[in-house]
Amino acid sequence: MELECSVQNYAWGKLGSGSVVAQLLKSSTPEFVLEDDKPYAEFWMGTHPNGPSILKQEQIPLSKFIEENKTTLGAVAKECGPNLPYLFKVLSVRKALSIQVHPNKEQAERLHQEQPEIYKDPNHKPEIAIALTTFEALCGFRPIPEIRNFLKYLPELRAAIGENEVSHFLCCDEEEMENSLRKCFSSLMSQGPDLIAQQLRKLLERLSNLDQATRNLLNAKLLERLHLDYPGDVGCFGIYLFNYLILQPGEALYLGANELHAYLFGDCVECMACSDNVVRAGLTPKFKDVGTLIKMVSYASKPAADQKFQALRENECTEVFLPPIQDFAVARITIPPGRSTFNTIPRKSASILIIINGEVQLLDSRIFGRGSVLFIPANETINFKVLHEKVSTVMFQAFANIP
Ligand SMILES: [Zn+2]
Repeated sequence: MELECSVQNYAWGKLGSGSVVAQLLKSSTPEFVLEDDKPYAEFWMGTHPNGPSILKQEQIPLSKFIEENKTTLGAVAKECGPNLPYLFKVLSVRKALSIQVHPNKEQAERLHQEQPEIYKDPNHKPEIAIALTTFEALCGFRPIPEIRNFLKYLPELRAAIGENEVSHFLCCDEEEMENSLRKCFSSLMSQGPDLIAQQLRKLLERLSNLDQATRNLLNAKLLERLHLDYPGDVGCFGIYLFNYLILQPGEALYLGANELHAYLFGDCVECMACSDNVVRAGLTPKFKDVGTLIKMVSYASKPAADQKFQALRENECTEVFLPPIQDFAVARITIPPGRSTFNTIPRKSASILIIINGEVQLLDSRIFGRGSVLFIPANETINFKVLHEKVSTVMFQAFANIP
């Protein structure tokens, strides 16, 4: 069944035809009018009440269809009612999204009970992002030697953190390191906004007079870009504490509970558990809950390359990302040029499939192309005929991660 999906025009989205979200919509919905100066940030596929998908032919909400046809949910029918356990998205990011963490289930229940107006549901929100174009993100703390090195070259960052915390961090031994990093981070995040803004201005001015090699070493361009969008925001200093990752198309990032992250730029496919629980601390005009974030975030530091999440190969055309949670998994299907047919692998739960590239025909002769979204009941397979054998056909399929 083909789905009609909703778009979110958040201000941080890529503009006009530069946005993959807009391109997908334009390609699958001929009557869609693309506006060049409008941001197209997110494309939502699923049953979330803030942007529910509807069946294109029948013009009824997907959740209503599922309610009347519960067996389509498969293995998740019991716990999920009329909703899917995941929300599937495409994101087109022009301006950084907030520095954030998501709570685990226990923490989410407590936050929801204590501050229901901010944390609106009691669910955890693990998520996976798979790059469609070159995709930039901040993720997790850098290895300690990298942070120490930046601190040596950046008196402005030392001032923003506080000299006491920094000198302890620079000379403490192995077993004190994580605790010392926590103190530095917490001191930086709790600092007054004036001091942070002043030190950022100082640093930017100094960077503008440095030679190119030193500027590259100190991530000057990235800092200038973030500061342009979020002037004076403490999150700008985050680039020296957190890993800066550039994902190539097809590479992925899995963000479990308490893993600090911020998406900076690019287009990706994203899948998450159904929840809105985000604890923010920087690079955002939205409400920041710094105290909760400092307590919750994981201070384990590891190299940027270790943050990437690897897929498992299922068959010649299918790779699957299987995170350590049951809410979702995502398969990436790439049908190479020259191949004329393909059958999807049956999944134990209902799944959603989006075509990113290419054109396919079903047995009933309906044709679907870039931007088409299909709902597939549990345990069913779809037989595709590939229409353009000269290009790679690329699709993503989300389903529950039931072993
Ligand atoms: Zn997130």
